Amino acid sequence: MGAANFLTESKTLGNNERAASPLSREAGLKRGKGILWLPVAVLVLFVPGRWRAGLAGRSAGPAGTLRIYFIDVEGGQATMLVTPRGGSLLVDTGWPDANGRDAGRIVRAAKEAGIKRIDFVLVTHFHTDHVGGAAELAARTPVGTFVDHGEDVETGKDAEALEADYRKALEKSKRLIARPGDSIPLEGAEVTVVTADGGRVSSPLPDGGQANPYCAQSQPQETDTGENARSVGILVTFGKFRFLDLGDLTWNKELELMCPTNPIGAVDVFLVSHHGMNISNSPALVWALHPRVAILNNGETKGGTPEAWQIVERSPGLLDLWQLHFSRAGGREHNVAQRMIANLHGRDQGHELRLAARADGSFTVANARNGFLKTYSKD
Ligand SMILES: [Zn+2]
Repeated sequence: MGAANFLTESKTLGNNERAASPLSREAGLKRGKGILWLPVAVLVLFVPGRWRAGLAGRSAGPAGTLRIYFIDVEGGQATMLVTPRGGSLLVDTGWPDANGRDAGRIVRAAKEAGIKRIDFVLVTHFHTDHVGGAAELAARTPVGTFVDHGEDVETGKDAEALEADYRKALEKSKRLIARPGDSIPLEGAEVTVVTADGGRVSSPLPDGGQANPYCAQSQPQETDTGENARSVGILVTFGKFRFLDLGDLTWNKELELMCPTNPIGAVDVFLVSHHGMNISNSPALVWALHPRVAILNNGETKGGTPEAWQIVERSPGLLDLWQLHFSRAGGREHNVAQRMIANLHGRDQGHELRLAARADGSFTVANARNGFLKTYSKD
């Protein structure tokens, strides 16, 4: 995007909408580093303290925050977490090809976060929009350990090609097979595997164990025997902040996980499952999690289906839903306000949503397209 676009957006910003650094930085990148720092320096004088050192930083994040980059890969997944101690976990690698577009976007975010290697890359399941970019990423940046659920359950030419590519990605890294209940040893945050390879945690986690009142409203769908149902799902805990990401886990597996007892409890932020498709995101899952904020990693023409969007949007206690893309399927009725959408129309804009969480459970979400940001206190 260009500076002109930024100015147009800024004029429409309300009280909560501050033209903070993600945007300044984008403009700055186009203009060159020399001009970058002046607008940032001026802007930080006028933003709240909690933001000042926050998402605004070019490399280091705000002191003591867990940063999450919801990287746009046009309807796949690439979610990067960086802890205050510099630990890094990337959930999925986006699509292959397109001249390494998605690997390039991940590397750009890593640079932005000030990290030179990625400690863990979690492959939620073996589908192209999640593991497709793995080899391209591994060729561009060192990866410590790949984590996955084990054998691909799908067969055929496409599956074989994906596996061959993934083997290439593994050449210079370690590999861990995740099982429900395992911890991924990310430095600076707790990461618990809640689902993997079709299984789920067998006993409630701390803060979980409540009866789930929404099970009756979630009738089972057709059985899913493919990779989506094998998704590795994780709960990330950073102090009082809790974030859940279940990859593309499908409806019936959600019911197995959440009924009759919710083993997870409430979360602060929920990454809407499966790009917001309606074969995931049952009320039994979403409503019982009681998220304060939900992030939808849809593409313009992928996911964001009205039924799933509505279930998330009506979730009890939800303060806001943010979207990586405007959803064409959602039309006027089933999209959030434009300021909370990272990419409005067309592909290959590549704007992210960024989040900085504090150990007290409060967090800030920012739209890298227009600099719109919002802080959510714990209560
Ligand atoms: Zn997917």
